[in-house]
Amino acid sequence: MIAENKKQTPDFFDVVILGGGLAGLTLARQLLSQQPELMIAVIEKRQYPVSETTHKVGESTVEIGAHYLSEQLGLKKHLTDDQLPKFGLRFFFKDAFQTLAEGTEVGGSSFFAAPSYQVDRGRLENFLAESGAELGATIFDGARVREVILDTSENGTKDTNHQITFLLNGEKQTISSRWVVDASGRAAFIKRKLQLEEDLGHDINAAWFRVDAQIQIDAWCEDSEWQQLTGKVPRRWLSTNHLMGEGYWVWIIPLATGSTSIGIVADPRVHALNTFNSFEKCIDWLDTHEPECAQAIAPHLDKMQDFLAIKKMSRGSRQVFSADRWGLVGEAAAFLDPFYSPGSDFIAIGNTMIGKLIEDDLAGKSLTHLAPTLQSVFLTLFQNNLLTYRDQYPLFGNPRIMSIKFVWDYAVYWGFPALLYFNDKLTDAGFIQSLSRGVEDIRDMNLKMQEFFRNWFEADPEVNAAPAFVDQSNIEIMTRLNRELTESLSDADLRQRFADNVDLIRDLMFEITSRVRESLPEIETSIGEQPPREQRLAPVFEMLNV
Ligand SMILES: Cc1cc2nc3c(=O)[nH]c(=O)nc-3n(C[C@H](O)[C@H](O)[C@H](O)COP(=O)(O)OP(=O)(O)OC[C@H]3O[C@@H](n4cnc5c(N)ncnc54)[C@H](O)[C@@H]3O)c2cc1C
Repeated sequence: MIAENKKQTPDFFDVVILGGGLAGLTLARQLLSQQPELMIAVIEKRQYPVSETTHKVGESTVEIGAHYLSEQLGLKKHLTDDQLPKFGLRFFFKDAFQTLAEGTEVGGSSFFAAPSYQVDRGRLENFLAESGAELGATIFDGARVREVILDTSENGTKDTNHQITFLLNGEKQTISSRWVVDASGRAAFIKRKLQLEEDLGHDINAAWFRVDAQIQIDAWCEDSEWQQLTGKVPRRWLSTNHLMGEGYWVWIIPLATGSTSIGIVADPRVHALNTFNSFEKCIDWLDTHEPECAQAIAPHLDKMQDFLAIKKMSRGSRQVFSADRWGLVGEAAAFLDPFYSPGSDFIAIGNTMIGKLIEDDLAGKSLTHLAPTLQSVFLTLFQNNLLTYRDQYPLFGNPRIMSIKFVWDYAVYWGFPALLYFNDKLTDAGFIQSLSRGVEDIRDMNLKMQEFFRNWFEADPEVNAAPAFVDQSNIEIMTRLNRELTESLSDADLRQRFADNVDLIRDLMFEITSRVRESLPEIETSIGEQPPREQRLAPVFEMLNV
């Protein structure tokens, strides 16, 4: 137990973090690297070191989360030496009788400029717990939070702070703190206590397991031309591979321990959870819907390492930060959908925001304006991202619509939140407010485009997974928007880049909708007609026969 190693454990802290998972431990590291003198406690019910491989799900990072871990927290060495580089997100569409080469594949043929990683969660959390203690955090592990009494007096003093009671070795302990941050994951201690839960209207279920074997998708098809499409050395297996079908997707993620994480995520309106809520049922389900995957697992059935199923996994919250010196981060705040791996992105964004609130508060500044402003930015990003998934699962088996939707979704992600995050601007309330018109435009366009994709599917549900490799490395706007994340911009240049991206996103909207309406004029949409300034996706439309 890490806390016991300390000679004297204090009973007052600047910040107490409930839960030492990814969100809690990264927050402790972030706060201590910004202000090493802070007194931080993390209360975690499990004991470190936790098991590798089977500890938790959530292994795939995308650009914001990867940047947070690597650059903001200085974990690049750990990620490069002890985790795996990620070859982007990759999507396969095919029917049960086609080979991978006969279906449609969407992904890059080379790595994008901004790196991302596949993370073994146990390995990362062990590293964070150990190094967090070295940085000065008091880590109570094997300790279960039982009660939190929030202090709502405006300025809080040492005597009137939050009280946190937990059980350690069967004994009750109470500590107090100026700040309390709930990072208890799905337990969502404070959210439940204050009844802040919000139904997102996005009902999806998942089941997953790890096998002690490297499942290499590169070996599923012997077509040598197909094998060479992503380079001479097989490396598709390093992607977060998505096997796509109507109402579902299956993830295949490699882990640095040599195991593979496999999960099914489905909309219950198309695939009920009770059809895949045990390991045996999962294998049967895969055998029907993704037979190559089932065949690849078949030799390793005795190497199954864990299994879990989860119902209705998306959760929201009406409030995430308070000027009364508390906040919710990670899954304790909100969780959307793992499709584009945004979990660690929202950990990065939430942690960065709460870090700013704590910093300002400890510097004696009022949070009356900042706390609701940052919360509004957080919830706007969350709601905007939710649109990407909600009611879209029926489209997931349609390679034409999804290939175009990927370009759209990435353009919105890289062109807006990722751009601002990489330039440290998501906590700059004044700067963000100065972009509010563009932010509102993107939200409005995204709303209309997600509806357009649904209406396109309704007008033309034909699933035709023709042999195609939609090489995202050849789509200039994708490589550019991603590469631009690695440039650090002055405020004036960033403002201009953002404005350019809003125009680019608008252009994309008109290009996509006008092209699709050429053959399907009956599609319902409130998007008007306007010639795009540039035709950027013509080769992709042609390849997909749109
Ligand atoms: C099916 C699925 C797939 C996902 N895939 C991805 C992905 O590919 N990429 C991604 O970025 N995200 C993914 N996520 C989200 C990912 O799980 C979260 O981003 C991440 O795990 C959240 O971390 P956290 O620290 O908030 O919660 P957790 O990691 O769950 O940590 C919470 C901690 O709180 C502790 N705790 C709980 N109650 C108490 C208590 N009373 N006292 C003390 N301690 C307590 C727990 O033991 C735990 O360690 C996925 C989620 C799901 C459901």
